[in-house]
Amino acid sequence: VNEPTQVLDKGFVRLESVMGSDLTVVNAARISFNKRSESLTEADKRLIQYLAKHKHWTPFAHPQVTLHIKLPIFVARQWMKSNVGVVYNEVSRRYVDSEPEFYIPMEWRGRPEKGIKQGSGDVLTGSSDLTCDSAYGFAIDASRGVYEAMLKAGCAPEMARMVLPLSTYTEIWMTASLAAIHRICSLRLDPHAQWEIQQYAKAVDSIMAPLFPVSWGALTSITAEGDPIASV
Ligand SMILES: Cc1cc2nc3c(=O)[nH]c(=O)nc-3n(C[C@H](O)[C@H](O)[C@H](O)COP(=O)(O)OP(=O)(O)OC[C@H]3O[C@@H](n4cnc5c(N)ncnc54)[C@H](O)[C@@H]3O)c2cc1C
Repeated sequence: VNEPTQVLDKGFVRLESVMGSDLTVVNAARISFNKRSESLTEADKRLIQYLAKHKHWTPFAHPQVTLHIKLPIFVARQWMKSNVGVVYNEVSRRYVDSEPEFYIPMEWRGRPEKGIKQGSGDVLTGSSDLTCDSAYGFAIDASRGVYEAMLKAGCAPEMARMVLPLSTYTEIWMTASLAAIHRICSLRLDPHAQWEIQQYAKAVDSIMAPLFPVSWGALTSITAEGDPIASV
């Protein structure tokens, strides 16, 4: 079992399995000429750069990676909007009634400056910070207490879970192509993405880079040039 990469206070991303490598990308492309490479050559590396640059995305869709991710429900809602080339399975609180865990942020961010609709502004300090801390603590303690009381009263887990907040941790398995994971990371590493989901994208990025050193580098450098492979 691979070591998980810790994310936020209680979350993680863990590589479950990987199918394929940079060579898979190369050979998926070389089938066009009914050719095959047995090991990655300099020409193969240049081919990968060419494919990424010219948005020949299908060779990047052959490698598949399975990740086990523990994340708050509100982050999972965002992450699981990405569906093309991706499958998910999630722990079900219809069946599981273990004690819920909640994301406790290190700091509270304020509303963004006037006119900006999404995201956060500066970190809250002083009484604003203290108010959020105590109100949030009260809310999650109440949720946990009510959840446990309902279970104790004989309520079905599938109904008792209705009191749990969006900050409750959930766990998913995600299997996706290299191309799809690159698309997710490029969307969620962007500074416009919520800070919490950026942390998950960074963890996934750090897992993918050594698995596909040439392909991941080629895909991400094309994105950095402002030419994202948006439709892969
Ligand atoms: C900063 C940010 C803010 C967001 N805010 C919101 C929000 O307020 N509300 C909300 O609901 N979502 C929001 N989203 C989610 C967003 O709308 C997408 O659903 C999400 O980013 C997944 O995109 P994807 O390209 O990975 O999707 P996938 O569904 O996995 O699609 C992959 C690609 O396939 C193509 N594709 C998929 N379906 C179609 C189709 N029907 N027709 C044509 N092409 C298709 C597109 O090229 C797409 O990029 C936000 C995302 C970000 C990054």
